[in-house]
Amino acid sequence: MGHEHDPCEQCEEWMQPYLDRELSDAELAEAEVHLEKCSYCRKRYRFEESLRIFVRQACSEEMPSELKQKLAALRTPL
Ligand SMILES: [Zn+2]
Repeated sequence: MGHEHDPCEQCEEWMQPYLDRELSDAELAEAEVHLEKCSYCRKRYRFEESLRIFVRQACSEEMPSELKQKLAALRTPL
């Protein structure tokens, strides 16, 4: 928006590996420099990060007992 050259096109590429801590030291430094100056990517990073935390929590939560029973029924030996 109003940028001659949009550096955020690249953000797409490093955002996921950045969240996964998979970037090399050089790439990591670059990503952090960009996050420093780009509020759009900072917001996006925070959003993605909280999304991941949310998903992790959702996965570790207890399954509904109804679903458990259904799964148990499927596992019942013949
Ligand atoms: Zn950006």
